[in-house]
Amino acid sequence: MALDLVIKNGTVVDGSGMPRYRADVGVRGGRIVEIGRIRAPAGRTIDAEGLIVAPGFIDGHTHMDAQIAWDPIGSCSCWHGVTSVVMGNCGFALAPCKPADREWFARCLTAVEDIPTEAMLAGIEWNWETFPEYLANVERLPKALNYGMYIGHSALRMYAMGRRGLEERATEDDLRAMAHAVAEAVKCGALGFSTSRASTHITPDGSPVASRIADWEEIDRLVGAMAALDSGIFQIGPDISGGEAQRVFLDRLRRVALESGRPVMFGTLATRQGKDPNRWDYQMRWMDETVAQGGRVWGQATTRSINAIFSLRSYLPFDTLPGWEAVRALPLDEQKRRLADPEVRRALVAEEAAMKPKGAELQGGGAATTDPRKPDYANLFPMFDVDWDDPSVADLARQQQKHPVEVIIDLALENDNRVFVQPIVNESPEDVLGLLKHPRTLATFSDSGAHVCQEMGSSLQTHLLSYWVRKRQQFTLEEAVRMLTFDNASAWELEGRGLVRTGYAADLVVFDDQRIRPCLPTVEEDLPGGARRLVQKAEGIAATIVNGTVAFDNGKTTGNYAGQVLKGRLAT
Ligand SMILES: [Zn+2]
Repeated sequence: MALDLVIKNGTVVDGSGMPRYRADVGVRGGRIVEIGRIRAPAGRTIDAEGLIVAPGFIDGHTHMDAQIAWDPIGSCSCWHGVTSVVMGNCGFALAPCKPADREWFARCLTAVEDIPTEAMLAGIEWNWETFPEYLANVERLPKALNYGMYIGHSALRMYAMGRRGLEERATEDDLRAMAHAVAEAVKCGALGFSTSRASTHITPDGSPVASRIADWEEIDRLVGAMAALDSGIFQIGPDISGGEAQRVFLDRLRRVALESGRPVMFGTLATRQGKDPNRWDYQMRWMDETVAQGGRVWGQATTRSINAIFSLRSYLPFDTLPGWEAVRALPLDEQKRRLADPEVRRALVAEEAAMKPKGAELQGGGAATTDPRKPDYANLFPMFDVDWDDPSVADLARQQQKHPVEVIIDLALENDNRVFVQPIVNESPEDVLGLLKHPRTLATFSDSGAHVCQEMGSSLQTHLLSYWVRKRQQFTLEEAVRMLTFDNASAWELEGRGLVRTGYAADLVVFDDQRIRPCLPTVEEDLPGGARRLVQKAEGIAATIVNGTVAFDNGKTTGNYAGQVLKGRLAT
């Protein structure tokens, strides 16, 4: 019987961690139906001689909720071999949402996740109110990738309580309404329920987002609504504000894990900043101890630093100073002319001395770009390459005997697409390696769709393969592929995905393991309404196949949108 697609002559790394082998992979009806030497005719053949054939990568921590409305390809994750994402993380979702709250929602997402309000108002057709209606809308939208989603606590709380949700304790009626909505969402396909207690998650007024107003008893109740159905994952944006606060947070979270028995996930980050930081391994010990007591917990670890990103075409750390503000309001060419003028430069460099000093508190990527402190130039790096070994601005200032601000101006004038990265967390590669090596962490957490002009995490998969596998040789290719595929499919309970195996969904990525790597990020003005964002593509990926259909050919969309909604067990 004829096949729809055959990938010929490739080397299969099947996602299980088993050693690679040479084989053709045959696809019919969206599934892998044959693996081996395939002689049957096929509608399309991809020659993968010299290339790796692996399961498509799965990213369980994104914020594509808004973007999916205007971006069918799923950028920037789609350029890094990703075929499935989970959205609705950290309590931020677009459902449930009452029509009167839409603009407020959009502004909250702008405040927390840097998704421009203008893009959301121009790009989204808001035709839902409840979570099931939102899910049905995602089901209809054209999409190149597969999308799973959580019901988000901040959205749910506002839906149930209105503006009281931003200030008050929930009443028994509120709790009953929210628990009912969580159960309804999980039954119709939500992968679980998400919330946030992160101090960086604030509304446009600077007050905490709705989920942070909730007490732990409310969280017990809502996770309990999933426990009553024996289904659903609990994801939480952790408190990372500092030593004692984080330890108290984790102690209480352990109770949720043990009492509910539901899988619990949160971002495990390493930071050496802030007051009294807990080392990365504190969280690893916490996970091991919680599991030993009967809990089921996962840490979400990205593969590199999480950075605030600056550039001439987006934010610079000096933009809020009056002299800079005047220059930065000009068209780009005019800005460059002024920045090259010695007198203007002198004044701008001198003005930096008036910046607010960097305090002990940890600033997220949002505040770091919109309310910047005087940069620590030893922790600010012009990105010349993607190999995580660029010199700092402080190094260059010393070498060139210039003021650090001049170094930044000169590099920006030389290439207006040059970005400067300021690691916020995961500053040390060795800490990140510790996180990734721990068996209870998942390689995920791109935050794709969020922080669109402030951070850029979408390259975590290609970074793992180029940096940790090829350059540092800390993981075999088989191990790294398993981390990006089968491990994540298992943790999120995505049935029939994450392996190259007959009967499994034909989500596949074909790549050159000697060439795969992220490209440098650039700033583009391609959001609805012309708003800007960071874009990062990759090299070395020949094809990405979603549900048996070629979605990307050498990084270019084919216009095939075969993505599906990934539903939880109760809906399948
Ligand atoms: Zn998040």
